[in-house]
Order: sequence, then structure tokens, then C-alpha cells
Amino acid sequence: MSIFTKIINGEIPCYKVAENDDYIAFLDINPNAKGHTLVVPKKEENKIFDLSKEEYLALMDFSYQVAEALEKAVPCNRVGLSVIGLEVPHVHVHLIPINNMADMQFMKKEKLTDDEFTALAERIAEKFQ
Ligand code: AMP
Repeated sequence: MSIFTKIINGEIPCYKVAENDDYIAFLDINPNAKGHTLVVPKKEENKIFDLSKEEYLALMDFSYQVAEALEKAVPCNRVGLSVIGLEVPHVHVHLIPINNMADMQFMKKEKLTDDEFTALAERIAEKFQ
């Protein structure tokens, strides 16, 4: 079982931003930038192109809605999108409010306190509809 399935099952906590029957979005705990969010299908699949085309398009549709909320809630130049990384074998879309290209490089990381994560997630969740 992946760490993201444990989050989906409520076994470990997350800073939730949005959720529906099939997808969940929560803050990345080691963010490239403030508001860095992961969008995850509740059905555990390893790789994005393991998804059916319908599931893939539905994931992108949900990610679009989350990105709109991010743009409203987090001051940034734009929201970047990336499907990358080998760490967690459970599909996840990275949505990252960026101000420069380094924000997309997964090298420079932001440190946030628990209170900052909580407040940020609440602010984004308020803008999600
Ligand atoms: P990757 O598979 O390389 O895209 O990396 C997985 C991403 O998930 C990284 O950006 C981690 O910071 C993030 N991550 C890992 N565990 C958690 C967690 N428990 N809550 C939120 N984000 C996580």
C-alpha cells in the first residue's frame, strides 16, 4: 500500500486542499514553493500512463480545478504542472505556484511550519469549487 493510499484512507494526516469521490489534492510536505500541491487518484496505480484514457482525463480535469484555486489563493507568476519522480509509486500530479524556473527543478525547497501549512491549505480549499 502506498503512502498516498494511507493518506486517502485517513491512516496518516495531510494538509487537504480538495477532494471528490475519485481524487484528492493535498500539500506536498517538502514543497518546491508555497502552495506546491499533489493531485492523486484514489485508485492506486503506479504510473500515469497505466491509467485509462478516461481516468487520465478525469485526473487532468480535477487538476485544472485545483490549479484555478491555487492561482486565486497563492500569489505567483503561474501554476506549473509536472508528473515526475520515482519516489512514490502512486500517480501524482505536481501543481506548483512558480515565480521562476528554479521552482520547477525539485532542488530548492521551502520550509513551512505546521501552522503555515494548515493556513495555506485552508486558503486554497476556500477557493476550490
Ligand atoms: P516523486 O515520486 O519523486 O514525485 O516524489 C513524491 C513527492 O511526494 C515528493 O515531492 C514528496 O515531498 C511528496 N510526499 C511524500 N510523502 C508525502 C506525504 N506524506 N505528504 C505529502 N507529500 C508527500
